Amino acid sequence: MSALEIQHLCKDFSSTQVLKDVSLAIDSGEFLILVGPSGCGKSTLMNAIAGLEPVTSGKILIGGEDVTWRTPAERDIAMVFQSYALYPSMTVRGNIAFGLEMRKVPKVEREQAVERVADLLQISHLLDRKPSQLSGGQRQRVAMGRALAREPQIYLFDEPLSNLDAKLRVEMRTEIKKLHQRLGTTIVYVTHDQIEAMTLADRIAVMRDGQIQQLGTPNEIYNDPVNVFVAGFMGSPS
Ligand code: ADP
Ligand code: MG
Repeated sequence: MSALEIQHLCKDFSSTQVLKDVSLAIDSGEFLILVGPSGCGKSTLMNAIAGLEPVTSGKILIGGEDVTWRTPAERDIAMVFQSYALYPSMTVRGNIAFGLEMRKVPKVEREQAVERVADLLQISHLLDRKPSQLSGGQRQRVAMGRALAREPQIYLFDEPLSNLDAKLRVEMRTEIKKLHQRLGTTIVYVTHDQIEAMTLADRIAVMRDGQIQQLGTPNEIYNDPVNVFVAGFMGSPS
């Protein structure tokens, strides 16, 4: 059984078709990278999986269960966006624990979870600070910590590193890879960074104009692109 299955998903915004019959099955523990040009529908697909946007037709299954019409809170998913909004009036600790509090996780467990992710992300010394007292990279770690505090079946990352400078991006990329290896979680990750895609992915899905053009290992995509578009976008420069 797949951890996440997307069946014939379509999404229209008024008269515009943004997702056009997207089907995709992701294995448990798999790191799937979603790439494609700006505006091709990546975020729309992520938002649909998270339940933030109702779909026009098609199905979304998590762990074999049809969640298509469930609210975000009823789906076992955590999400990190590009523009990570931390709560400015809360401490780092409060920000990380917020999602757990929403889900009525008892205080002792919340505290344990905060300690665990803070240790993992090396932000233990920052727990009592406010977001305004943090650097961009530290804030990004907190946003990630908020997602990791829960142990959902699936993590969704939508260009989580695109606001960081190059050095931090490389550092966080390594961190994310380690996290995945250590936790063995299922991840769907959007990026426009080709190196990020090649180094992180078990498989890559290349999207164009609301459709998946090719789904394969980094090797397959790079060496054996199915069409000129994929070759131009991800393939070898030969
Ligand atoms: P990507 O993440 O690949 O850059 P998006 O999924 O954000 O692309 O957007 C895909 C298309 O859907 C774009 O043409 C965008 O303008 C449109 N779109 C996204 N969200 C909305 C919305 N809430 N209302 C109307 N159109 C939208
Ligand atoms: Mg996007």
